[in-house]
Amino acid sequence: MSQTTRRDMLKFLGGAALASTGLLGKSAFAADKAKIVIIGGGIGGITTAKYLRMINKDVKITVVEPNSEYIFCPGSNEVLLGDPIADFIRTYDHPRKRYNFDMVADKVASIDYAKKSIKTAGGTTLPYDSLVISPGPTFVFDDIEGYSQGLAETKILHAWKAGKQTTMLRDQIRAMPQGGTMVIATPSMPFRCPPAPYERASFLAGWMEKHNPKAKIIILDKNPGFIFQIQYTKYWKDNFGFGTDKARIERISSQEGGAVAKVDAKNMTVTNAHGDTIKADVINIIPTNQPNELTVKSGLKKVDFGIEVNHHDMSIDGHPDVYLIGDSADFLVKTGYLAANQAKVVAQAIDDRLHGKSPGQPIYTNNCVAKASKDNFGMSITDTFRERDGKLLLAQTVQDPFPEEIDNPFLHHIRAAVSDNWQRSFRRAVFD
Ligand SMILES: Cc1cc2nc3c(=O)[nH]c(=O)nc-3n(C[C@H](O)[C@H](O)[C@H](O)COP(=O)(O)OP(=O)(O)OC[C@H]3O[C@@H](n4cnc5c(N)ncnc54)[C@H](O)[C@@H]3O)c2cc1C
Repeated sequence: MSQTTRRDMLKFLGGAALASTGLLGKSAFAADKAKIVIIGGGIGGITTAKYLRMINKDVKITVVEPNSEYIFCPGSNEVLLGDPIADFIRTYDHPRKRYNFDMVADKVASIDYAKKSIKTAGGTTLPYDSLVISPGPTFVFDDIEGYSQGLAETKILHAWKAGKQTTMLRDQIRAMPQGGTMVIATPSMPFRCPPAPYERASFLAGWMEKHNPKAKIIILDKNPGFIFQIQYTKYWKDNFGFGTDKARIERISSQEGGAVAKVDAKNMTVTNAHGDTIKADVINIIPTNQPNELTVKSGLKKVDFGIEVNHHDMSIDGHPDVYLIGDSADFLVKTGYLAANQAKVVAQAIDDRLHGKSPGQPIYTNNCVAKASKDNFGMSITDTFRERDGKLLLAQTVQDPFPEEIDNPFLHHIRAAVSDNWQRSFRRAVFD
């Protein structure tokens, strides 16, 4: 690799990614014509295509994705406050040309691991030498009585895949009567972006302060606790009377009956696990997240936190040329940042295998940013995972600000600005 190319690559890669991929040790481009098929043109899929092309100019890369554009979920809670959704939309033209990959505009219907090929709903068969699966989660609708996919697309929205539902939910909130009630119901962990339901509630309570001051948000939580609970609780106490009769945000935890058992869309009520019924003007149920139906249907093994993967390189046991990353993979944490990090590990593993090398020891990093208010209260958490003897270990977790710095408004202000920059630069890191 020439010095210029090496410098160019260094500009693209963060320190954690370098450590995880071992790119610094690489000395020559490959001359393979191997066929790499990637299922899903989301964060995991496009990051894999981009980084694989950066280290290997010869492989043939094909991304299969049914949609003509991708809408980023990270940051999309701000669309509920009025940010334009256009800021979150990316088309595939730019990365496709810049990183020289093909796209098939279709949904993968089946995978034949024995024949090493995939088949799309439209009937196209694509053979592969290596397959990367990153289709995001499948949402479950039949674990709540009265709930359905149809309702989730029309009235009881989830907005857990950014797009039309996000703007529809924004409009529902704006149309709420003065003094109305909104319910936000969470699924049990793991689900994509663990702080996002609480961030959503916090943002909207701030918005209501101005536009609908007597309105109220009730979080029906299927979990006993949640990430950044100390920080959110402080912000809600300081700003929304949390824990008092006049609270703008109320949270009912799983121990208190937070799980939703039933929804009645006609009468706009939800009934919780204890049989208590709440009437609301807007009901936002975030459905249970499961590994993507394609992965399960194709016979891959479901374990506690997703589809079982070999954490050494995100490959599937018994199928060394098949890799699975992103929200469907067996990781307790499910974020775009982690999906992108896994993608870089896989890009390097594919290139290593093509050169007869064994992939190096990976480091997976998750950096999760969240805010309690749009402008002045942000926080972040960084987790580092390492694989040892086939087991995934959480090597380090760092929160910023530290919980003991919770009373320092300056740090929260800085973190809110860092969070905004994170969102902008992350979208660029994946698609530009
Ligand atoms: C409200 C919200 C806020 C969030 N905020 C953050 C944040 O601040 N930071 C962060 O890191 N993460 C955040 N996330 C999480 C992040 O969006 C996901 O973790 C990330 O998108 C996972 O990447 P993925 O590649 O697994 O799936 P996706 O990015 O969802 O991509 C999957 C792609 O696969 C396609 N697909 C599905 N099935 C098929 C098929 N059969 N054939 C072909 N293609 C298929 C889909 O159309 C989609 O384009 C947030 C999520 C939400 C809902």
